[in-house]
Amino acid sequence: MSTTRFFEQVNLNFDRASKFLKYEDGLLEQIKACNTVCHFTFPLKKDDGTIDTIHAWRAQHSQHKLPTKGGIRYSMMVNEDEVKALAALMTYKCAVVDVPFGGAKGGVRIERKNYSEAELQRITRRFTFELASKNFIGPEIDVPAPDYGTGEQEMAWIVDTFLAIDPSLHAEGCVTGKPIGLGGIRGRTEATGRGVFFGIREACDNAEDMKALGLEKGIAGKSVIVQGFGNVGYHSVKYLMEADARITGICEYDGAIYNEKGIDVEAVFKHMQEHGTITSFPDATFVEDSKSVMEYDCDILVPAALESQITEQNASRIKARIIGEGANGPTTQEAHDIIKERGALVIPDNYLNAGGVTVSYFEWLKNLSHVRFGRMERRFEESSARRMLEAMQFMTNRSLSDDEIARISQGASERDIVDSGLEDTMISAYNQINELRKEHNTDLRTAAFISAIKKVAVTYERMGIFP
Ligand code: GLU
Repeated sequence: MSTTRFFEQVNLNFDRASKFLKYEDGLLEQIKACNTVCHFTFPLKKDDGTIDTIHAWRAQHSQHKLPTKGGIRYSMMVNEDEVKALAALMTYKCAVVDVPFGGAKGGVRIERKNYSEAELQRITRRFTFELASKNFIGPEIDVPAPDYGTGEQEMAWIVDTFLAIDPSLHAEGCVTGKPIGLGGIRGRTEATGRGVFFGIREACDNAEDMKALGLEKGIAGKSVIVQGFGNVGYHSVKYLMEADARITGICEYDGAIYNEKGIDVEAVFKHMQEHGTITSFPDATFVEDSKSVMEYDCDILVPAALESQITEQNASRIKARIIGEGANGPTTQEAHDIIKERGALVIPDNYLNAGGVTVSYFEWLKNLSHVRFGRMERRFEESSARRMLEAMQFMTNRSLSDDEIARISQGASERDIVDSGLEDTMISAYNQINELRKEHNTDLRTAAFISAIKKVAVTYERMGIFP
């Protein structure tokens, strides 16, 4: 196990990238530093009347753009170093995909399965109250979102608590990843996995890069192993499977499943909902040593669980030609170098899992504008397209069926707009970092850091340093 702490790991990657750039050391130090971090301790009265002391943190890495942004995770691994590292990754990730936020991250150190729904609700509401009272949440200040161990339900409790404290015009924008009825946006739940898919697809569509890896162009036919079958892992492989990739392995904390011929991801998802585990899924072989499956032969490995999963301990045994980092910080720098040495491609977290925050940005914009995307123009677009089709039919003397007309003239829904905005973001950012990779003869992670440092530095230089 690597002994380097997580925030240091992030900074090692930063330092490597900064060597390609000519900025003053002081400026680089300022960009790297985690500006603000707060440790909260509060009591929870459990259902049985006993009291637990809950530890929680929120780190705001950089306020070069406001609000700061990043998820809140519920996990026993949460500590100050972890939230600082994750907040820093948020800063760089947002910069890479041109989402105008500073980076933040929060966490509550709990084993969520040890708490009832009512207890989780009390923890979440109390944490929101603590954040609000210390000015650590608000649509213009700091906007949390789901992360490992949290989802729509927690975000609903957060927005409801915040609205009770501050019922102002834009208050709904205090958190993203909310249910639709509370100001959420269509496409947010699947956004991170969808972004992972778009990013991997873009990499695989580059014939030259694939040739260098000894692979064919395109996703179809490629074998994929995923670590983690939560929101990110599930959606990543769902879309890869829909694009005709073969999902051969799924690793979870309680065991893995493997089938050389391919696993039906939707069937596994259903199985997990019914039985609470993937391990008893009938159409695959169960492997007790879950992590060992990450070392099986495959074209693409998607670590989509927690940080530090690929270390110098197991990196040399990993056979995948492409590592698509769905999780934050899954690969240590030593491991990255071993994989790179082998000639494999790492698509880094600070680009690849940015789909979540990208759609969070769209949700926040929706909350500030108080209007659903597509609401103003959808019908108008449809009637313009219909008029155009009528004119074409008249001129060409050809007629289309009602179904064809309906399909071709369909105006964009909120989901369509979100999806195309996400796709465009992931494609543009990939090409930006891939260009930088070639220009500096480096790897994609360093290129993504170069891109991020440049964008954050510009903001600092424009602001001038406060006298
Ligand atoms: N927790 C997600 C991440 O690590 C999403 C953050 C957000 O939407 O603010 O990127």
